[in-house]
Amino acid sequence: MKFGTKVIHAGVHPDPQTGSVMTPIYQTSTYVQKAPGVHQGYEYARTQNPTRDVLQANLAALENGKYGICYSSGLAAMDAVIRLLNPGDGVLSTNDLYGGSYRQIERVHKRYGIRSTYVDMQDLDQVRDNIDENTRLIWVETPTNPMLNIVDIEAVCQIGKEKGVLVCVDNTFASPFLQNPLDLGADIVLHSCTKYLGGHSDVVMGAVVTSDPALSEHFYFLQNAVGAVPGPQDCFLMLRGIKTLHLRVQRACENAAVIADFLKDHPKVNRVNYPGYSTHPNHEVAARQMRMFGAMVSFDLKGDDFEEAKGIMTATNYFLLAESLGGVESLIGHPASMTHGSIPKAERMKVGLTDSLIRLSVGVEDVNDLMDDLKNALG
Ligand SMILES: *Cc1c(COP(=O)(O)O)cnc(C)c1O
Repeated sequence: MKFGTKVIHAGVHPDPQTGSVMTPIYQTSTYVQKAPGVHQGYEYARTQNPTRDVLQANLAALENGKYGICYSSGLAAMDAVIRLLNPGDGVLSTNDLYGGSYRQIERVHKRYGIRSTYVDMQDLDQVRDNIDENTRLIWVETPTNPMLNIVDIEAVCQIGKEKGVLVCVDNTFASPFLQNPLDLGADIVLHSCTKYLGGHSDVVMGAVVTSDPALSEHFYFLQNAVGAVPGPQDCFLMLRGIKTLHLRVQRACENAAVIADFLKDHPKVNRVNYPGYSTHPNHEVAARQMRMFGAMVSFDLKGDDFEEAKGIMTATNYFLLAESLGGVESLIGHPASMTHGSIPKAERMKVGLTDSLIRLSVGVEDVNDLMDDLKNALG
């Protein structure tokens, strides 16, 4: 089955009882038993839910994995991954990790004895040199937020295999339409389904996909034992959003390429970060591991004026000023004051996250309207 068919059909079957083409929303907390312990595979809805089962099968297929396991948010899915580690074990991560992921490692798991190291994973020597006898997990995010750096997934997985360390890739920014880390050697792929998979900014959800039976057991166990599960209505909305994933992401990527070109030539713009440029430091890697270059673009201004950047963000009409990404509508954001506000300026500047950096999540509107919107806002 090709990707555009999988999004609609993989794991999804008309309801045998009624013929309902759409997966029913099984809005129930429990299931009747014929005799104690005699049931149809469903006992209690934290443990199993038929709407969730269909979504999980669909997600597994999209990432070319065997098992999909959903959680109530992307960060709840991450928590399930980090719980593979024991006190004293270490996680080696990208140094420009999603802020919420960084916070979870540093302020939740650290208290339970998890060690953490952050490196620039574009430099494979840094990955190799920072694996020690405690390292159990390599946490990859690519493309990264908001600098759109690209990590070579296959090369990092190769290092993981050599050293016997698990690799988890946060594939949220790419979506399974653009990039499939399991095919490149990853053990686990993670999604904040809140973003491109849902695609309509109306659901918060997370998922992991793996082909390893032992890992899948761990993840199903935590779904039930910890209980961070999505509700049936949200699973239905996620299935509905996924049906157009390929159409949405393709159009958003096309729009982003046009907008990146427009920004590059704008007199007020200093630097544009976009993996689709042949001048992007890891363009070759992006071209190898991604089908298109994504729909996230960031740029900063000549003179790097904080107030000027803020002015632009309040002057757009279609680009809505909001956190998050991956919906059909375009969003604009200011990492220095929004998502990365808690990082000291000196630290931000080291990775190029300047005061005037503006991040765009390009949506699927008409690209001419989007360009006019930015043209007006840039003045
Ligand atoms: C949003 C996001 C998360 C967290 O997902 P939630 O669904 O908000 O919990 C994790 N990683 C990345 C890259 C994200 O963009």
